[in-house]
Amino acid sequence: MTTVEQTLLDSLSLDAPWSLVEAFAELPRWRPEDVNASAEVIADRLKALGVPVEMHRPNVFLSVPISASIEAAGETHRAKPPSMSISAPDGISGELVYLGANVKNLRSYSRDVRELFGDSFTSWDDLKARIAGRILVTEGFGNPALTQLAEEWGAIGLIAVNPGIDIHWGTCTTIWGTPDLDDLPRKPTIPVVAVSNPSGQALIALARDGGGATIRTEMQEGWFDQAIPTVHIPGGGEPERFVFVHGHYDSWDVGIGDNATGDATLLELARVLWHNRQSLRRSVRIAWWPGHSTGRYAGSTWYADAFAIDLDENCVAQINCDSPGCRWATSYHQTTCMPEMQPFVTQIIEHVTGTPPKFKRPNQAGDYSFNNIGLSSYFMLSSTMPNDVRAEKGYYDVSGCGGNIAWHTENDTLEIADRDVMMTDLKIYLLSVLRHANAPVLPADWTQATREFRMTIAGYQEAAGRRFDLDPAQLATTALEQALDRLYAAIDAGAVSEDAANTVQMGLARILVPLNFTRGVRFAHDPAYTAPPLPVLHAAVELPEHEDDTVGFAKTQLMRGLNRFVAAMNDARRLVESATP
Ligand SMILES: [Zn+2]
Repeated sequence: MTTVEQTLLDSLSLDAPWSLVEAFAELPRWRPEDVNASAEVIADRLKALGVPVEMHRPNVFLSVPISASIEAAGETHRAKPPSMSISAPDGISGELVYLGANVKNLRSYSRDVRELFGDSFTSWDDLKARIAGRILVTEGFGNPALTQLAEEWGAIGLIAVNPGIDIHWGTCTTIWGTPDLDDLPRKPTIPVVAVSNPSGQALIALARDGGGATIRTEMQEGWFDQAIPTVHIPGGGEPERFVFVHGHYDSWDVGIGDNATGDATLLELARVLWHNRQSLRRSVRIAWWPGHSTGRYAGSTWYADAFAIDLDENCVAQINCDSPGCRWATSYHQTTCMPEMQPFVTQIIEHVTGTPPKFKRPNQAGDYSFNNIGLSSYFMLSSTMPNDVRAEKGYYDVSGCGGNIAWHTENDTLEIADRDVMMTDLKIYLLSVLRHANAPVLPADWTQATREFRMTIAGYQEAAGRRFDLDPAQLATTALEQALDRLYAAIDAGAVSEDAANTVQMGLARILVPLNFTRGVRFAHDPAYTAPPLPVLHAAVELPEHEDDTVGFAKTQLMRGLNRFVAAMNDARRLVESATP
């Protein structure tokens, strides 16, 4: 811990952040006009703290849920439509069909349908014939994968039965941000609603009796100007390079744990870093996003597009801030982090909390809109509830609010925020940003990534057996790892200039992050499916599931993926060697 670090940590205060949390507790932030009004609140607070703010106002594509209901057997059930459901104000009626399994991860038709659904269906054709033209009822959060499957199977509507008595808002599209022409065919074409578990049980019983229902959804879909407040804090040593910290300020309802606490954390970071900017070597950029909930990250996606070249040339890392500072969230056992950043983040969390964290691979979610550009990344979720606390409360799994099931409901109110947890998270964020901005050599350890790659490839090889040889991938990875060992030893010995070392560190992120998290090209946006590690090699795992008629296609895909992988590894190795004396 340096004196500067200690001084800045000591200057953290809950005054400004807690006051913003309290203000946001009165401000629903999901209708486009309310979202813009709350951006002004953030900007006013920044100005009052003496921090200059720049406001962007892009035009983005949103789908705002207004209302939904289900009528069945003479009863009206409360429901919520996820963002990007189609609007069906006059209602869509049909017979109900229930699929009683966790279908959301099913993408393979080669598995025996009976293995998945028991004896309810005799074959995939039978399953599709029974679902086509009907309203599908199944458990879940109305998520995109489920919606896409329902569409593929010909369902005319989807009812997602939530696990508890509350109904969770969400989204049902796999399109990341504002769609481009290539994305548009994936836009959902059916009405989707979420219902509470009691309503769901009634509808499941009705489906078993061959009953029907009418789904009504009302959406406000279109293009909206939405404000993005940003703060640019110039560093003294390398002002063009910057650490990028960001989080969304639009929320479902007043969304305190998701994400007023994050907005407050960013506000305090802006205050402390702006007034201590003479201590910064690199710059720090802070952004608050709209369009997270109703545009599937439309705000951060717009920024990734509009500032793509700047991010590519100058951004040293992105740090996401979503749902910090929540009630009972005292554990760091599911902290989001890319492999190359794990040693760095471990040191910081261990320093602040006394306990080393456990990490979770970033899924295709949050405002991770920068994977295709290739930015080293950490946090999305930081703190969460310890497992025993969650078990004791009987909570099901949610994706924010520190594990509080108020997540994405009208219960996400002031009581979800916690002052002590917020201060701990503030220290972790501040120390991360400060150290990252000031490290003479950027702190990524790429041997952590290559080690993970080798394990991933070994697992894929085991799954593929003799059907495909992934040795070229292993050899290229090992060669890169050995080159990295030589470079890092030379850096430690002071034989490489900081500038040369940092050019390599950033260049590796541009090559290796897309390889570990995306299938698509750079400067596009992959769909919001959870990507397996090294997605271009993942077809190896599916080889044993293919029959003779499809295995050739899978092998062709894998060969192309292998080529992309090996060529990228070779590029990375040459980059590393170019800076090694
Ligand atoms: Zn969030």
